[in-house]
Amino acid sequence: MTTAGHCLCRKTGWEFEGEASWGCYCHCDDCRRNCAAPVVAWVGVPLENFKWRGATPNTFESSPGVRRYFCGTCGSPLGFEASHYPGAMHVYAASLADPATFTPEFHLNNKSRLPWLKMDDDLPKHEGTLFQTSDEAGQGD
Ligand SMILES: [Zn+2]
Ligand SMILES: [Zn+2]
Repeated sequence: MTTAGHCLCRKTGWEFEGEASWGCYCHCDDCRRNCAAPVVAWVGVPLENFKWRGATPNTFESSPGVRRYFCGTCGSPLGFEASHYPGAMHVYAASLADPATFTPEFHLNNKSRLPWLKMDDDLPKHEGTLFQTSDEAGQGD
């Protein structure tokens, strides 16, 4: 099975084979600002099954070891790769060819969730990332 996605202008896209690793929401300030959106939905993909399509995306290092990919023409955010998530590409769920197929499984950085954003699902809500205890939860990525 091939799953694909693309940016607003469709010049840059991506695809992966097989199953996604997971789907989640991230409430960190970096993801929020990167998309100018109150919350960002992510699909985790094994890097070995992932490839870019069309025009090569541009990258921005949002913090040390964190690369965010975006379309050089329309600016749409497309992907995220980080040294603390080795072997994984993360793509923005809203860039899926059919975003309705996305299934969120948990929230990350719930500690940073905007107070006016009401999400009344029953999904697990991690205060930080998957690798932080709630005491360390802070900034983001
Ligand atoms: Zn584009
Ligand atoms: Zn984030």
